[in-house]
Amino acid sequence: MDNRTPLKKGLFDEKDGGRLHGNQCATCKRVYFPPAPFCYDCLGREMEEIILSRRGKLYSYTIGRMPSTHFEPPYALGLIDLPEGVRVFAPLIMTEDERYRIGMEMELMIDELWQEEDQHIVAYRFKPVS
Ligand SMILES: [Zn+2]
Repeated sequence: MDNRTPLKKGLFDEKDGGRLHGNQCATCKRVYFPPAPFCYDCLGREMEEIILSRRGKLYSYTIGRMPSTHFEPPYALGLIDLPEGVRVFAPLIMTEDERYRIGMEMELMIDELWQEEDQHIVAYRFKPVS
């Protein structure tokens, strides 16, 4: 765990298998991830930090087939709708045997994405619920 560095601080932690940190407008209750500095809907300034659900439904996804800086193709990226009414963009676990389907149930995990020198860069991704 020593050299584990979050890709971005304050977005997630590793408790209970991984949790995403969002926030919610105190006035209209709209939920944001990543956390918003103020509510884009009602312009409310009072935002409360919340922990988001670990499971959601796959809204859409794409398979990357071109090399990218940190991911070997093929790799999968998806949009997951969480019960709080927020849509999260995240890398997905690439599965050889199981194909992604719109609407399938997905679960959050915290995973190493790549290494930089001696640092293991960790972030959130989603995998199909087995
Ligand atoms: Zn609001």
